[in-house]
Amino acid sequence: MFRGYSRSNAPLKAISLFIKALNYNLLPDDYTFPSLLKACVVAKAFQQGKQLHCLAIKLGLNENPYVCPTLINMYAGSNDVDGAQRVFDEILEPCVVSYNAIITGYARSSRPNEALSLFRQLQARKLKPNDVTVLSVLSSCALLGALDLGKWIHEYVKENGLDKYVKVNTALIDMYAKCGSLDGAISVFESMSLRDTQAWSAMIVAYAMHGQGQDVMSMFEEMARANVQPDEITFLGLLYACSHTGLVDEGFRYFYTMSEVYGIIPGIKHYGCMVDLLGRAGLLHEAYKFIDELPIKPTPILWRTLLSSCSSHGNLELAKQVMNQILELDDSHGGDYVILSNLCARAGKWEDVDTLRKLMIHKGAVKIPGCSSIEVDNVVHEFFSGDGVHYVSTALHRALDELVKELKSVGYVPDTSLVVHPDMEDEEKEITLRYHSEKLAISFGLLNTPPGTTIRVVKNLRVCGDCHSAAKLISSLIDREIILRDVQRFHHFKDGKCSCGDYW
Ligand code: ZN
Ligand code: ZN
Repeated sequence: MFRGYSRSNAPLKAISLFIKALNYNLLPDDYTFPSLLKACVVAKAFQQGKQLHCLAIKLGLNENPYVCPTLINMYAGSNDVDGAQRVFDEILEPCVVSYNAIITGYARSSRPNEALSLFRQLQARKLKPNDVTVLSVLSSCALLGALDLGKWIHEYVKENGLDKYVKVNTALIDMYAKCGSLDGAISVFESMSLRDTQAWSAMIVAYAMHGQGQDVMSMFEEMARANVQPDEITFLGLLYACSHTGLVDEGFRYFYTMSEVYGIIPGIKHYGCMVDLLGRAGLLHEAYKFIDELPIKPTPILWRTLLSSCSSHGNLELAKQVMNQILELDDSHGGDYVILSNLCARAGKWEDVDTLRKLMIHKGAVKIPGCSSIEVDNVVHEFFSGDGVHYVSTALHRALDELVKELKSVGYVPDTSLVVHPDMEDEEKEITLRYHSEKLAISFGLLNTPPGTTIRVVKNLRVCGDCHSAAKLISSLIDREIILRDVQRFHHFKDGKCSCGDYW
């Protein structure tokens, strides 16, 4: 009955039935705990889950190989991955199932570094990863842009016959695409004998992320010919591709096809793509109207998308209106103040810049620091903007100083207008720019990888204009390809040019 309820849409009934059983002095065993804990996860009854954990300890079952993984899942499922880690740490000889539970917990909480280090621990203990392990590890590689480890997993998948799982192949496509290797994604997709909706969607999104709008559309036609139904992710890929290639009419056509032909109700992400589509094309007032007339309450992210379009098209008037809309919903996002204040600064409105700065401090809004990561020899290194500016300079900073000197000799001019600060001297502004996280990660790559190796960097925010032009120059000056994934898209720098065509 417990198991039946835990799989039904009334999982709480498992818990109330369990209380009845306790009244009859019937204690749970290693066979009943997993179902009860699962019911707690599905019903989000975490208080009850913790009580079950106590009971398991009292009964000496907390290290039981059947109970332990479900305890870990229960904590991870309640967004308490540290609690999950504590349960895991209690186990003397963890098995693959326990490792899977904790690795998946970290992967789902967007803590890929911890997921990968547990994976290495699992290997060191000579345990055999299975399809569940591989799925979580691949999603962690994708988050970090750790291509080498991803490739190693791919080899492991092939050697151990895990490529019979469509899900594993789909995760491989996603990993290759997010680590900047479109070719890798294509070759996995082509090797698949069975492709479901998720697999097609992953490939469509892969092309979209890499700015191959034409391929996205022909893939979509091919998918229809193969009689595979698209889902909401497929359309996200299509809309994303349209917005990044400036195809406004096609974008709207897909947007209507989605609901009218396939009966898929657009979600907030689809609306986001449409706002981006209009905003990028410079149709800013149309985008404003689109958000204003939505059938659902717009989220701050939608307005934020429009705010950054206003910024790239230099429309200060509309940006102010958009900012008012954002502030009504969420005034804690430092990035919004920074965008608007940069716009004001460009227009020379220093009083507004000052007002915004005070408002930002008053609201306690924080700016997320830029962070870029790079994988070298299976270790992921993270750099934060301004790292080391106020400390003694390291070999990395000296190398970066040298690099900037060389870049200047071939025409690089640091774009100090990007640093908005009325009290800073130009020289100070230049130093601030120089130690941006992207530049730190790229020069770390130059220092620590053999000549000719492609440098792959992942950044948590959008790449800044100055780092973008510096990366272009580095790619021709040092003859290295640089692939930089920012929060929006990929930039593939080669021979002094970027694949985005300076449009991002
Ligand atoms: Zn920068
Ligand atoms: Zn670019």
